[in-house]
Order: sequence, then C-alpha cells, then structure tokens
Amino acid sequence: PPYAIACLKMFLASAERRRPAPSASLLENDELYLRSYSRVIATRLEEKVRELSASESKFRNFFHNIRDVVIVVDGQRVILDANEPALVKVFGYSLEEILGKSSRMLFADEATYRKTGNHYTPGAESQAPGLLETVYRRKNGESFHAEVSGNILRDEAGKDMGYISVIRDITERKALEEQLHHAQKMEAIGTLVGGIAHDFNNIITAIIGFSTLVQMKMPPEDPSRENLREIIAAGERAAALTRGLLSYSRKDAMRMDGLDLNEVVQQSLKLLKRVIGEDVILDVTQAGEPLFILGDSGQLEQLLMNLATNARDAMPDGGTLFIETKRIALDEDFHSRRWFGKTGDSYALLTVEDTSQGMDEATRQRIFDPFFTTKESGKGTGLGLSIVYGIVKQHNGYVDVSSEPGKGTTFNIYLPLTSVKVVKTDRPSMASMRGGDEVVLVVEDNEVIRNLFTAILREFGYQAHPAADGVQALGIVEELKGRIHLAIIDIIMPGKNGRQVLDDLLAISPGLKHIFMSGY
Ligand code: ADP
Ligand code: MG
Repeated sequence: PPYAIACLKMFLASAERRRPAPSASLLENDELYLRSYSRVIATRLEEKVRELSASESKFRNFFHNIRDVVIVVDGQRVILDANEPALVKVFGYSLEEILGKSSRMLFADEATYRKTGNHYTPGAESQAPGLLETVYRRKNGESFHAEVSGNILRDEAGKDMGYISVIRDITERKALEEQLHHAQKMEAIGTLVGGIAHDFNNIITAIIGFSTLVQMKMPPEDPSRENLREIIAAGERAAALTRGLLSYSRKDAMRMDGLDLNEVVQQSLKLLKRVIGEDVILDVTQAGEPLFILGDSGQLEQLLMNLATNARDAMPDGGTLFIETKRIALDEDFHSRRWFGKTGDSYALLTVEDTSQGMDEATRQRIFDPFFTTKESGKGTGLGLSIVYGIVKQHNGYVDVSSEPGKGTTFNIYLPLTSVKVVKTDRPSMASMRGGDEVVLVVEDNEVIRNLFTAILREFGYQAHPAADGVQALGIVEELKGRIHLAIIDIIMPGKNGRQVLDDLLAISPGLKHIFMSGY
C-alpha cells in the first residue's frame, strides 16, 4: 500500500502540472476535470505500477543485501518495512512478525523507546540528526547496544511520512572497548599500587629486620619473646601482602625457566588438595603431551593456589574442582574478540573450573580489581585474582573468566608455548649463615634500611661502614684504601645511581667486589 499511494500521488502531481491553465485546485474543485482524465490516469497508473514493480524488485535486492538493519516506520512508529535478512540475523524476527506493529517491540524498554523517538523529532528542520547509541532487544530477550542513524521521510510536498532508521549492532565493538578500558584501568592501578608497595617494602623490611635483631640478642627465657614473635609474624603477613601487590604491578623479579605446564600442575597437586579440603573433589585432566612454556614455577603455583582457594570459598558445601591442561591454536574468533595473540598461534590452555554458585555479571566485571572482594571483612583481601592477573600478564598470557549464577565459574588461562629447550635446574639449597670479620661498605640512601643492614652485618661480626650516597662512599673507600672486601650498593638512589657510584669507586679501588641490591 505505501508504494501504491506514493505512486498515485506522484501521478496526480504530474497530471496537475499538465493541466490547462487557469484553474483552481485539482482535488477539491474540479471534479469534472478529474473524471475526464480518469481513463488516462488508469492507464498511466498501470504503466507506473509495472515500471515501479520492476525497479522495486531491483531495489529489494539491494535493500536485502545491506548488512545493517534498515527499518521504515510511519508517523506513529508503526513498522512499514525492513530488510529481512539483516532483521533475522540481528533481531531474530522475520519480517512478517513485525510488519504493522509498533517499533516499541524492538527496544529494550519503554524509556529507551521514547528517548530514541524524541531524538528524531517530527518536523525538525535538520534531516540528519546524526548517530545515536541505544539499546534494542532481540526476539530471544537478549538486549544489545546499537548505533542508529535515522532520517525523517518526507513526501514530495515536504510532509512528514515517518522515519527510516539504520541500525548497527555494536555488541562486539562495545566488548572490545570495555576490555581496553579495563586494561587501562589495571595499568593505572598497577602503577599506583607498585609505588605504594615499594615504599611499604622498605618499612616492613626495617620492622622485620630490627625485630629479628632484637630477638637474636634476647635470652631464650625472656617474657617479651612471645610479643616479639607476634611482631615479626605480623610483619611477615604485611610482607606477603606487599609481595602480592608488587607481583600485581609487575615490579618484582621473576625467574623465567623453560618448563612443562603439566609438571607444574603435578607438583602443585599436594598443596592444592590441602587447600580445597576434603569436601571438594579434585578432578585433573592433563594434556597427553608436554606443554613447554617460559614461566616461573613458583608464581604459577601461586596462581593455582589462589584460584583453588577462591573455588573452595565458593563451594562451602563441597563440589568439584576441575583442572585441565591442553594445547590449543587460537582461532579467528578468539583473536577478534579479545584482541590478543595471532590466529593459529599455539598456546597452552590451563582451565580451572568449579561447580559453585558462580557469580553475577557485576561481580564478574570487577574480580580482577585489587581489593575487590565480596567476602566479609577479615575473610578476603581482594588480592587473590589481582595477583593471578599480574602473573598471567608477566607470562605474556591471557586470562578469561566465564560465570553465571548457578552455573559455576571457569577460568581459562592462555600461556604462550615455547620452543626453548627445557633444562631441569635444581634450585640451590640455602647454606646456613656464617659470619666473618671482613670489611663491608653499605651504600643505601634510605636511612632505615641502611641502619638495618649495618646492624645485621655487625651482628654477624662484619665491620660495616654505612654511606648514604656516592660522595660518602667515595670518602670511605679513599680512607680505607683497598681494605674493603665488599661493597653492597643500592641501585636506585637520588643523585648518582648505584652503577655510577660503583664506577667512581672502581676508579680509585680497582677490582672492588660488589653486590647490587634493590627494593624491587
Ligand atoms: P578474595 O578471595 O580475597 O575476595 P579475590 O581477588 O581472590 O579476592 O576474588 C575476588 C572476588 O571474586 C571474590 O570475593 C568472589 O566474589 C569472586 N570470586 C573469585 N573466584 C570465584 C569463584 N571461583 N566463584 C565465585 N566467585 C568467585
Ligand atoms: Mg581469593
């Protein structure tokens, strides 16, 4: 019908133009004239309809090949037309299901429907109100973000006939944007947290160090021993927290070895079983082949521990914890949705899945944030998953989580496979501390740390000489002339850094033995 009406109007307009002058309005006054033309009108109309239906089928063909959904509505927002293939793909409706109905059914809710309508005010001067982002709803109930551009449709006389809207589903782009924001946020928090943690580390080192010194000198029966032990234990808890923060902000040193992910998992099992307790069943499936990656086995064990701890907390009445390793090749879909890796690259996939109640979308979005916890105070620190995130990043990997209320939680961790040959190295065992009486120079700008180092060295019998910077260090070396056995130098100092200080010292005392140290 809309085409037929448009057709008729068009024809009447052209008839009017051809009409002999002078005359009044065609439709209202000159009925006779109209009748005399009716035969002509009828034939011309038939011709026009044939012509139009030929061009319409051509137009339909174009129209149906548009990827975005194009919807035509009348002034009351009743749907007149749409390109069906895109409509089915994006909204899930067939054309038949929406024709003649209010476009309200396509929107997420009443408010969005109204807002979008207001944007395209009928009769507005501007024909192109620009792009608008809005939320629609698919037939299956799922809502999605879309970009819509609309135009008011006007007839030849300039009267509003309705609107034509072009709707583009931007779900994918939205997801990518969100990921980018998230990554940027994590980066910023990382920098902040790293700075704080570094300062904290110095303070805690001093607390533990001096307490330990006091403890060493204390007679075994001293009643204050117990209190001191508590101070040290508290200090160690703070140190563990700080280490967690440092590993989140990628500031701590890692030992990257070539290792087999399967072995790391295997070695962690005993500990994991202890963590999850007896009510949770551990179900492990390993890849049949070794999965060589470059990694730090201690950190990866920590990662598994943190995930297992969370799973246990999420399953207070028991359940199953699945751990699986396998080799996968990234596919196009993975790459385009996460913007990570290259299609076809091989990764080791570590999956940790539980049968808990899972979590809702709002929680899921925040779990990697430091200090985000849903646990009561004293139970959770909110650092477990931030540390997991940090560890995965340091391994150049990717971590993905999927969870829905009632459906458990799955963590997928992708770690790049390596061709580096795996050499088994035994970590050196710790020798017992033995004191000497050599002369040691300590160059450290932080006063508390400098005093602590000096005190510890003296405690073990060394002759320790503290220096706050390069100038003081140079003075001591000149004074002692080749009698210094070892220089311990902080790398990061204001003014001259450790490396530069060492160069100065070597100039006057060639061959001076040295150790660099750093709060990082
Ligand atoms: P914490 O465990 O100290 O709360 P985490 O960073 O380890 O901190 O976890 C953050 C939050 O993520 C938890 O408080 C919990 O709400 C949620 N979470 C983590 N793992 C799971 C899981 N396996 N199942 C359900 N929720 C989880
Ligand atoms: Mg945790």
